[in-house]
Amino acid sequence: MAQFSTKCLIIGSGPAGYTAAIYAARANLKPLLLEGPVPGGQLTTTTEVENFPGYPNGVMGPQLMEDLRSQAQRFDADLRTGLATAVDFAKRPLEVTVDGRDTVLAETVIIATGATARYLGLDDEQKYLGMGVSACATCDGFFYRNRTVAVVGGGDTACEEALYLATLAEKVYLIVRKPYLRASKVMQKRVLENPKIQILFNTNTLGLFGEEVVEGAHLVEHAGTDKEDKFDIAIDGFFLAIGHTPNTEIFKGSLDMDEAGFIKVKGSSTATSVPGVFAAGDVADPDYKQAVVAAGSGCRAALDAERFILENE
Ligand code: NDP
Repeated sequence: MAQFSTKCLIIGSGPAGYTAAIYAARANLKPLLLEGPVPGGQLTTTTEVENFPGYPNGVMGPQLMEDLRSQAQRFDADLRTGLATAVDFAKRPLEVTVDGRDTVLAETVIIATGATARYLGLDDEQKYLGMGVSACATCDGFFYRNRTVAVVGGGDTACEEALYLATLAEKVYLIVRKPYLRASKVMQKRVLENPKIQILFNTNTLGLFGEEVVEGAHLVEHAGTDKEDKFDIAIDGFFLAIGHTPNTEIFKGSLDMDEAGFIKVKGSSTATSVPGVFAAGDVADPDYKQAVVAAGSGCRAALDAERFILENE
């Protein structure tokens, strides 16, 4: 078992974590950043990012993350692979257990653990996981060339995934529970104009079927009304795009959170309910969930941590 000490521990390697590392390293805090199981976070599983400022022609998600990572390394941020498995924020310095065995003692902690894709909660999702069920079109879309797939959700993620899959698959169903899409107008327009995409409004998924892999889905339109209609569609792939849950399990009981598990921060700062612990990015953002917003809050968290250290030295 090893023990490390740092002025600033950053947990998470998405846009918030790397940006916090850039700022903390330039402020000479010599930050230690824990890169979890998916270095780079959610953007490593996306295709082109068109709305991150500074890339007029767009940039691929994994490339954007590699650029942010290199920038953090340039200022000697200490990037290490490891999963934070427990915290003790009642102690000073703050204590974080890594991979169940190592300990990091930190004057400040910046939590930037992001969020994870949500599932509907159907037994069949687990039954067919990796056998036709996926929550990442860009990871698994390749397997569905010239096949028929369905995407569940009506937000920007669902539209983006449906559009991406339409470049590979023969047909894409978009299963939307409401009578409208929640996605931005530009994404709605692209989906509505794509001849390969068929939107099934007012529709919910009851289950999936297939011998060994997904061969179809049981759906219901207008559930619970006199127009209720149950029907099946034949599909080879079933993609979830219904939002994300914040990765805050290990902080439960240690920090104040809202009902959905997002970490609460004080006013316009990134300060959590524990002095010296700051939260940045999607883990504390139920509203915007944008890479550029996460990066901005990573900057703010590093500045808040720097100020905290100065005031408590
Ligand atoms: P959202 O929360 O915006 O949308 C989730 C969608 O899933 C909604 O249509 C919701 O339906 C639906 N949904 C939720 N639970 C269920 C369920 N149990 N059964 C069926 N449908 C369900 O999440 P996104 O991941 O799409 O987007 C998150 C944020 O990220 C947004 O702010 C979005 O704008 C942003 N984003 C931006 C992108 C871009 O600009 N390039 C790309 C991707 C995301 P309902 O509407 O009925 O609640």
